[in-house]
Amino acid sequence: MSDDDFLRVADVSKWYGDEQVLHDVSFEMDRGDVTVLIGPSGSGKSTMLRCVNRLAEAQEGSIRLDGEEVLSPDLDVNELRREVGMVFQGFNLFAHLTAVGNVALGPRRVLDLSGAEARERAEAQLERVGLGDQLDSYPAELSGGQQQRVGIARALAMEPKLMLFDEPTSALDPELIGEVLEVMHGLVDEGMTMLVVTHEMSFARAVADEIVFLDDGRVVERGPPEQLFERPERDRTGRFLERIA
Ligand code: ADP
Ligand code: MG
Repeated sequence: MSDDDFLRVADVSKWYGDEQVLHDVSFEMDRGDVTVLIGPSGSGKSTMLRCVNRLAEAQEGSIRLDGEEVLSPDLDVNELRREVGMVFQGFNLFAHLTAVGNVALGPRRVLDLSGAEARERAEAQLERVGLGDQLDSYPAELSGGQQQRVGIARALAMEPKLMLFDEPTSALDPELIGEVLEVMHGLVDEGMTMLVVTHEMSFARAVADEIVFLDDGRVVERGPPEQLFERPERDRTGRFLERIA
């Protein structure tokens, strides 16, 4: 694997008021890597993801993406968000728009594609996530798993160079989780660079190049899945994994 430090998070600290929620968090990813952030509720996983696309502002440290300092005050945040796709736990689809309408919105409004071009792109991305037969369905007509796949297609339609996933299956009924993980697995196989927060440990184990275990805003331990799952160096990691396994 190349060693290009495509994403380099270095000593990132963040406070909400007086409460420090990230303490000197560091990790690196190469292009095409999959990194999975794990940790208990409130450990700072979402905050860390949100700092990468500047939905949250880190006060200290450095986040370099493809050679550019994300935390620089001069950074074009809109451009950053075009380049970094994000998929949330809730799907946040527009109820009055069809699947195609939801996916075409960004290409239309942000990338300035024509209606026909945006629709073509939206159709291609919906086919990519296995929803080629639901193009004109409204969110209410889709299952939660299908809605989340529309959410993934919506992010992909911007042709991001990095994808962030924040517990993308946590709001789903158990029987719908598999179809979403399958789509994510497909993206991994295509070589997408992905930073994923999930509690789906078998998925993490199967696809992650590196697991980063956060607790109380600190990186307790990180390493390849075999190491973290089978030979954790820290007691804290072992206890966490035992609890959720
Ligand atoms: P996780 O995703 O691991 O559950 P979060 O990143 O959501 O953790 O939260 C980390 C800490 O930051 C928690 O103590 C949470 O209460 C706090 N926090 C998160 N978002 C905000 C916010 N917008 N304002 C104040 N505190 C926040
Ligand atoms: Mg969270």
